[in-house]
Amino acid sequence: SADLPQAHQSSRNPRVEIARRGVMLVLSSPSGAGKGTLSRLVLDTETDIKLSISVTTRPRRPSEVHGVHYHFISVPEFESLRDRNGLLEWAEVHGNYYGTPIAPVEQAIADGRDVLFDIDWQGAAQLVERMPDDVVTIFILPPSMGELRQRLQRRAEDAADVIEKRLKNSSREMAEWSRFDYVIVNDDLDAAFADVKAILRAERLKRKRRMGVQPFIDRLIAGDLG
Ligand code: 5GP
Repeated sequence: SADLPQAHQSSRNPRVEIARRGVMLVLSSPSGAGKGTLSRLVLDTETDIKLSISVTTRPRRPSEVHGVHYHFISVPEFESLRDRNGLLEWAEVHGNYYGTPIAPVEQAIADGRDVLFDIDWQGAAQLVERMPDDVVTIFILPPSMGELRQRLQRRAEDAADVIEKRLKNSSREMAEWSRFDYVIVNDDLDAAFADVKAILRAERLKRKRRMGVQPFIDRLIAGDLG
């Protein structure tokens, strides 16, 4: 209302919008480190960010929905998409193919909307190579191997031999930690989530993404903004 102090009034105004490119935020970790939970938290609480839905040749888990968690496709379909340059990156993980369709990502980033990627380190490395200015990579570590095993067993969506294969692969994956921009140990979900949000917030503010700064300054200097 009119009698509020000036500072309070202006803090209620919408903030100046400065056009920017979207952040390509990669969350990567061995299976069971809690990356899935963290991604869901980010997607549920942040605006202007959506998940890049990968294609995979892995069988669908009971809880998964085609077109929501993955596009589940056959090996020939995957190979055809890859050979037509339809994938931004792809990798074979735990014996199955996974890949990121290009078109939705390029559209979102140009429109200033962020994209979250739940992909392995091989995919992260390809994205960094291809779009070094847009990609921000976070590696999530479990607090212990015992905790990793427990999380995989608790999830109870994979057969025992699949869980063993994933655990064996995880030490190899963790050896790739130094490729990433940020490393978070997920010993406390709330703290790890706050860390991811802080990274996203800072990366959104990076000058290199904010092509709207110069036009804003032009108008500022011209006195157009009052
Ligand atoms: P899951 O089978 O548990 O859903 O995924 C297995 C691994 O594949 C995880 O590390 C996940 O991040 C990774 N992954 C999922 N989609 C992609 C993708 O499109 N590209 C790459 N390189 N890895 C992916």
